[in-house]
Amino acid sequence: MIVLVINAGSSSVKLTCFDSEGFRVLAKGLVERVGQDGTTLHLWASGQATLCRPIQVTDIRRAVELLLARLVDPEEGVLSSLAQIGAVGHRVVHGGDSVTQPVLLNENTTNIIRRWSALAPLHNPHGLAGIEAAELSLPHAVHVVVFDTAFHAKMPPVAYLYPLPRELYERDKIRRYGFHGTSHQYVYLQALEHLPGPPESRRVVTCHLGNGCSMAAITGGRSLDTSMGFTPLEGLMMGTRCGDLDPAIIVYLQERHGITPAQVNDLLNKQSGLAALSGVASGDLRDIVEAMDQGDHHALQALQIFAYRIKKYLGSYAAVLGGLDAVVFTAGIGENSPLIRRLACQGLEFLGIDLDDSLNDAPGKGLREIQAPGAAVKLLVIPTDEELAIAQQTVHLIQPNLNAAGRYAWLTAQ
Ligand code: AMP
Repeated sequence: MIVLVINAGSSSVKLTCFDSEGFRVLAKGLVERVGQDGTTLHLWASGQATLCRPIQVTDIRRAVELLLARLVDPEEGVLSSLAQIGAVGHRVVHGGDSVTQPVLLNENTTNIIRRWSALAPLHNPHGLAGIEAAELSLPHAVHVVVFDTAFHAKMPPVAYLYPLPRELYERDKIRRYGFHGTSHQYVYLQALEHLPGPPESRRVVTCHLGNGCSMAAITGGRSLDTSMGFTPLEGLMMGTRCGDLDPAIIVYLQERHGITPAQVNDLLNKQSGLAALSGVASGDLRDIVEAMDQGDHHALQALQIFAYRIKKYLGSYAAVLGGLDAVVFTAGIGENSPLIRRLACQGLEFLGIDLDDSLNDAPGKGLREIQAPGAAVKLLVIPTDEELAIAQQTVHLIQPNLNAAGRYAWLTAQ
């Protein structure tokens, strides 16, 4: 059977086809810049050259239809028939506070996606458009929805409640939800395989450092706390997002400069973070490091603050977990920046965190350990793979006895 994973965002749709036994990637498709100039379709299959083609598509639903049609195009396609696809895993960002596992697609699931669209207006409606298009084109397949918030939905109230009037939680659902759940869960499960001792008592902090950055404190298969909150703005400093901030700053700016909610949103999400503090006009870590290498003092300071905030969360999550067995670095920055890993770990020897500089600097692609010999805490670099995680969870939900998805069976049993 082929498992298809669909990740429909606000301006792109990504499809990945896996074989359900070994989870080998068989084909990938991408439509990017949907509804903008230069919309392009990319199609790749194992052993074949990548096809890139300008196309005209203005909405996500049509992009999914087109990609599926191209997958089985008699001349350029990479599958012989859509009937080969037995299961589809859909990525959806917000599932609220009640969904803790992947779920089968049905009316209740689409209602959940709609209900939480108000809190993820740039994501959930596009996810739903992708689902509806895929259901029409693949009526024979089993459809599963994997929510980004699900892994954090078992956080305890001490972690998810904000100290605000209770009615804001009860009426308006204002609480910490957390994001990047599929990635945190995936690298946590990978890490467990490298940790001695009983997996259920291992204490792991996962650092997903990419365009968006978040950390999670995990033990017993459960996310106990995570740095993103009601929205993906809270927590760590990011490329163009500010992360943690004194909320009074916003009131002050509104009163003093009369800035509007839209301007506040733009300021905090798009004009802050690494880009703002460095003045480099880019949130891409590589550009900031390049400026630092050329002697730009603000770029250096931006990087130091970025790492300092990771360090603060490492300390607080060590307290939440009552100690640490492993810290995992993942996503674009976590996997590729020895500098950020070094700055974030510096001075944390008292927690058992002791980075080996030569292991940290050594280039590598797969899972690797970068702690000094004999260090109490394992420091792991683990490439994240949200598509693979969604494919495995999809198969686990519909064929729970299949060995390949075994890690998820352990998780479900916790
Ligand atoms: P992601 O959202 O996981 O794709 O991560 C994007 C972030 O990873 C951007 O800030 C990139 O600058 C950063 N990144 C990607 N590759 C590298 C690299 N080789 N060295 C440093 N940062 C990188």
